[in-house]
Amino acid sequence: MDWVPVILPMHFQVSNVKVKHIVLIPDKKRKGEALEPEVEPKFIVFEAQLKQLMKFCPECGSPVIDRKKSVSGSHLTFHLQCHAGHDVAWVSQPTVNYVRMGNLLLAAATLFNGLTFSRMEELAKSINLAFPTSRACTKLQRKWLHPVIDQEWKQEVESVVEETRQQHQALCLAGDGRSDSPGFNAHYGSYTLMNISPDVAPKILSMELVDVAEVPNSAHMETEGLKRCIASIEAENISIGTITTDQHMTVQKIMRTEYPKIDHQLDLWHVSKNLTKKMTAKAKQRGMEELGDWIRCISNHLWMLNSGCPTMHSSEDK
Ligand SMILES: [Zn+2]
Repeated sequence: MDWVPVILPMHFQVSNVKVKHIVLIPDKKRKGEALEPEVEPKFIVFEAQLKQLMKFCPECGSPVIDRKKSVSGSHLTFHLQCHAGHDVAWVSQPTVNYVRMGNLLLAAATLFNGLTFSRMEELAKSINLAFPTSRACTKLQRKWLHPVIDQEWKQEVESVVEETRQQHQALCLAGDGRSDSPGFNAHYGSYTLMNISPDVAPKILSMELVDVAEVPNSAHMETEGLKRCIASIEAENISIGTITTDQHMTVQKIMRTEYPKIDHQLDLWHVSKNLTKKMTAKAKQRGMEELGDWIRCISNHLWMLNSGCPTMHSSEDK
């Protein structure tokens, strides 16, 4: 199992999905304007520059006699009162469904680019740039962004399942698990199965998230995730021919005992990595130093052997 930091929702980062649009109903003022909020160019404006503009009423050009500022995340409002009696509220961003678009776009960009809020906040703080709070970002992501991701993911899975049904050959899948922290402290683990059948564009067919509370301990998350992935594919009446995984011992065991009809193969990259690791440890022992010079050759030889022998079964893993 490889360790990768988890930024929830995990499935977004490794899925085939790219969210194109967040559909919101535009407010009346912006109707008819050509550019979508995410496309419209934006600039960093210094406060002193803005205050220069706010000296005169945007409605009539008379001098402003009272000016109040309010800030909500990256959104700025100036309440102006002019000499001619106008009360004007100038806003720095459009609002859609009462959502300030700058704040929503920042929350979306953070999530969809696989960034973390803390890194973005650090960047903003270092130049005193107005930025939404962690709480506001989380709220926006939960309310507007996660549902979009869920919907896109469901549609994607449906279309991939449909595509797979059209495939008239035994299904070849590759799978691996990952967890939110290394060792035995993991809280969440995900398992992914990708369709790698020949002549088919590789696509993720199933992904399952396992909470450590659902299994005896974190070591069981990988196998539980794999079982759920297989069950979800079989529930669609799709039969699996081959599954390729790493050398995870429990995975090898359940593939042998619970899925004897599925051909279980080992991924050469993991085999080579493990072998190199073991040989490197051995070469550090007294009297075994010469082995160090051979590690690269042995690893290359393994890859060369594989090119003439396309399958490596888990039972051959010695
Ligand atoms: Zn005025």
